[in-house]
Amino acid sequence: MKTFLLLPLATLPLATLPLLLLRSAASGPVHASAGASLGVAASDDELGYQNTPLLPGTKWHVHDGLRPQPQVVTPGARPGGAPSDATVLFDGSSTEAWKGGPWDIKEGALVVNGKGGIETVEHFGDCQLHIEWRAPAPEGKGQHRGNSGVFFFGIYEIQILDCFENRTYPDGMAAALYGQQPPMVNACTAPGTWQTYDILFRAPRFGDDGAVASPAVVTVLHNGVAVHHGEALIGATQHQKVATYKAHAAKGPIALQDHGNPMAFRNIWVRELTRAE
Ligand code: MG
Repeated sequence: MKTFLLLPLATLPLATLPLLLLRSAASGPVHASAGASLGVAASDDELGYQNTPLLPGTKWHVHDGLRPQPQVVTPGARPGGAPSDATVLFDGSSTEAWKGGPWDIKEGALVVNGKGGIETVEHFGDCQLHIEWRAPAPEGKGQHRGNSGVFFFGIYEIQILDCFENRTYPDGMAAALYGQQPPMVNACTAPGTWQTYDILFRAPRFGDDGAVASPAVVTVLHNGVAVHHGEALIGATQHQKVATYKAHAAKGPIALQDHGNPMAFRNIWVRELTRAE
């Protein structure tokens, strides 16, 4: 018996269990295991199985050890912090990731100043966006209180609005897919407080004929509260019209709206969402 089988199983990482079971199977290991130490395989073909069924629609076996290893990413040091593979769009010090405006930097925050919207220089497709925003002391009501917005591809808006004790039409409130779908709940905190959006955006796909083949799909957490879960957009944002799609490139800018209110932003980062192929 190998010495590692004497160890209590509970002390072993779960991922090592298939390897242990494989090696202790009566039929013998599928792969050579000489030289492999506990939990550390000598090569990728010792990580899993090649004699298992193929997963439908893929070239990979169930538990295939040759399947590409996902990239190692170091999470942010604090909740909301940028992971190691993120593109930082604003860290309090520079607006160089953006064009338009320019907006002001005040006390480490990016502040709307009436010079118009801004958009990222770099373009993104499927992505994860983290953004923090703060509405000023209330002036006005409804759509005129703490209004901004984050636009994927510059055209698909997730509304930003101070909706703390401020009613408006639901498909135009904070975290709404503007003009289409209200959030499931209103998770706004008071004006003057920092609020977070964590948004997963799947870009729409278009066929060769320009027709939408699959719609944009978004998942949004507002202050950590899920407010959209895999919600499909019906098209590019419109005001007082039904949204429609028009074919565009696979990547586009992320834009922020100047709606005339001195909204502040901080800690903005984005990650492109891809799999190891
Ligand atoms: Mg807006």
